[in-house]
Amino acid sequence: MRIARFSTDDGMSFGVVEEDTVAAIAAHPFGDLTFTGQRFPLPDVRLLAPILPSKVIAIGKNYAAHAEEMGGEAPAEPMLFSKPSTAVIGPGEAVTYPQKLSERVDFEGELAVVIGRMCREVPASRATDVILGYTCANDVTARDLQAKDGQWTRAKGFDTFCPLGPWIETDADPGDLAISTAVNGEVRQDARTSQLMHGVPTLVEYVSQVMTLLPGDVILTGTPAGVGPLEVGDEVTVTVENIGSLSNRVIARD
Ligand code: MG
Repeated sequence: MRIARFSTDDGMSFGVVEEDTVAAIAAHPFGDLTFTGQRFPLPDVRLLAPILPSKVIAIGKNYAAHAEEMGGEAPAEPMLFSKPSTAVIGPGEAVTYPQKLSERVDFEGELAVVIGRMCREVPASRATDVILGYTCANDVTARDLQAKDGQWTRAKGFDTFCPLGPWIETDADPGDLAISTAVNGEVRQDARTSQLMHGVPTLVEYVSQVMTLLPGDVILTGTPAGVGPLEVGDEVTVTVENIGSLSNRVIARD
């Protein structure tokens, strides 16, 4: 099942995407779904970020080949950082390039996990019980500020630096999915989630040992090798097999 958040002239709603229509659901997508009976052609709605998380927890250097291209080894344990909820944007929304503060902004295509219920200290063996589904993410990063600051809050935290979408796929198996990122149609990252050093169940266990996860919270699982710079005017597309594609254009910040 594909759960989207969308807007029409009547307002915003969650809904279930079935082929080229979306069936609206009442309230939120956690727990049992109640369909309102409203149904819209998919081209007639505007897809929004599929969830507005209370927090986005991300994993650094979780593919060995990416750790290597960054000049280091993959850490033995998952390395956590966070992105503010205000960085989240949806499919088709613009990533704004903060050119007064950064001269190097990179794409990082990632598989994102969306948490479905409040939980803490979840063993890996029960991780699927607390996961609503999966979506595509772009962990946009001001690479020069990441190096300059020594920690990553500023580099990872600009408004628009966390595109999510196009929807939450509840039925995907995250163990071995093709993941790719293209810039202006040219493939720049091409990998499989089976190459994750720490897989999704391990990440849910690790993160939930530290903090309570709330419905809608998002875990970004890390980016494969091939990261590189974006320029104003570029269109960047992250595609995850069995989930979908997330495209965003880059514009200059005023
Ligand atoms: Mg990343």
